[in-house]
Amino acid sequence: MAGIDDLPPLREVIARHGLSARKALGQNFLLDLNLTARIARAAGDLANADVLEIGPGPGGLTRGLLAEGARHVVVVEKDPRCIPALEEIAAAYPGRLTILKGDALEIDVREYLTPPVKIVSNLPYNVGTELLVRWLTPPEWPPFWESLTLMFQKEVAERIVARPGSKTYGRLAILAQWRTEARIVMTLPPSAFTPPPKVSSAVVHLRALPAPRFEADPKVLEAVVARAFNQRRKMLRASLRGLAPDIEARIREAGLDPTMRAEQVDIEGFARLARVLARG
Ligand code: SAM
Repeated sequence: MAGIDDLPPLREVIARHGLSARKALGQNFLLDLNLTARIARAAGDLANADVLEIGPGPGGLTRGLLAEGARHVVVVEKDPRCIPALEEIAAAYPGRLTILKGDALEIDVREYLTPPVKIVSNLPYNVGTELLVRWLTPPEWPPFWESLTLMFQKEVAERIVARPGSKTYGRLAILAQWRTEARIVMTLPPSAFTPPPKVSSAVVHLRALPAPRFEADPKVLEAVVARAFNQRRKMLRASLRGLAPDIEARIREAGLDPTMRAEQVDIEGFARLARVLARG
């Protein structure tokens, strides 16, 4: 393996620290450092950015990020077995790696980060979608990060970039594309990971827009979209019943047909509906 740094190969690190993969923690490791450096490059120029990485595991992607010149990397890892391996990386890159031990769903990372911030992670599958939704739905926009470069199961990646009318279009596509520009930048077969997962994976790059594409109150938009897609086969007049006493009239006022189904409504249509409903 061509070295991207002077640290030992990841297989050796894993053997020495006894890091057998645990399914409950969503552990599928990337051991090819050329691949992790490629993922780091997909995040753009890192030299002037702080990078947040959730779930570094034995540190393959962390090493890619540091070797690609990230100014400062902050990692959050729940598995205490991985910490000694990460400390070896921190020693090889003095002052550039901060290791936070614990659950990414509970730690507030912002105090450790200086803008501009890029988030780059091979996410644990069991918390990946939850973290993405949190990053996409702060009350204020722009958020604390400038871009997200994230590995997901390919099926989740496709839901993030889906267009209206497609089977995968839904809540995730709208939350992502309302406030970011989202695209799939890399697809990886199961064999890229150790152990290999059952399905293919894909890296999605989301760049935060300076302002949402269309004006809407985030809470109202999220509520309408959640309702509409909770019963995605139903017509809007049925799935949104109860949101307002005169819901059919409101749907029409937003320029939509009450017999439309959620998957036929584009983001602009949902934003118009959220504005009409926010009037109370
Ligand atoms: N980044 C490494 C790589 O690419 O080889 C490991 C990726 S592995 C898919 C996911 C990592 O997230 C594991 O190291 C796991 O221990 C960690 N993890 C799982 N749940 C977590 C949580 N709630 N908070 C922080 N880390 C978590």
